Parts: sequence; structure tokens; C-alpha cells
Amino acid sequence: MENQHTADLELSLQTRIKEVLGNSLHIRHVDAGSCNGCDFEMMALCNPVYDVQRFGIDFVASPRHADMLLVTGGGTRHLEVALQKTYAAAAAPKMVVAIGACACGGGVVGQSYANTGGIDRIVPVIVYVPGCPPRPSAILAGILLALDKLAACRAAGF
Ligand code: SF4
Repeated sequence: MENQHTADLELSLQTRIKEVLGNSLHIRHVDAGSCNGCDFEMMALCNPVYDVQRFGIDFVASPRHADMLLVTGGGTRHLEVALQKTYAAAAAPKMVVAIGACACGGGVVGQSYANTGGIDRIVPVIVYVPGCPPRPSAILAGILLALDKLAACRAAGF
């Protein structure tokens, strides 16, 4: 059942990427203070099980080449400016997806002198993917939802 769900998700993703962005979706991963749990789940998207490059998804080194930022970690104050600068450098449409409980709202660290308490306190977020860490299929669902939201915004003329 899980495999069928993931297969359906992947098919929808492939279709949506073509409709909304043309041929491909370029993603820049930003670690804003993660424990690396979310990062490992995210990197599983490139392994032979998920193999998202089949759908035209690629992880890129430069935000200038990225349509989307996948951000992990609670948004530590140490990395606040780095995240702001990465967002500023990203290519339009600058979709930001918060990956994991920390990025969504601070997680176990919460808000403190060292942690902002979620990346939406630093940059605008289009989709939140909860979990500690979220499964790769949940991350795929979050990416798909971000594309759906972008399509809806364009259809509404925004
Ligand atoms: S949500 Fe959990 S796995 Fe992800 S960075 Fe926070 S503590 Fe680590």
C-alpha cells in the first residue's frame, strides 16, 4: 500500500513539474541548524528507491539555479543571515518548503537566544512538512503541494 501510494505520488509529481515549471525542478537544500536527521531523509530521495532524478528533480549547489529551497533545522540565529542571503539569491518563484518539526516551528529546541523557533521567522514558507524526521514520501508530498499552490496562485493571477 505504501509502495502504491509512493508510486501515485511520483506520477503526480512528474506531471505537475511539467505543467508548472516545464521540464525540471531544481532544489537547493539549506541546513538552518538541523541535527542532520531530516537531511538524511531528504537525501534518500536521490537513492535508487526514490530516484527522483527520473522526474526531472535535481539538487543544485547554487540558489541562483534553484526553483525551490528545502530548509531543515530550526533556524538558528547563527544561520539566520545565511538563510536570508540564500533566499535573496534564489531564482523565482522562490518556493520555500520547511522540512521537519524544527524547521516548521523550532521542534525540540523551540525558541531561544540561539534559535528563532522556525524558519518562517526568517523567510516566507509555502509548505510545512512535519515529522522528526519526516519520511521521504512525506517530503515528496510537500514538494507536490508546493507546486499545486504555485499553480493555484498563477491561475488566480498572482
Ligand atoms: S525535526 Fe527532528 S530530525 Fe529534523 S532536524 Fe529537528 S530534531 Fe533533527
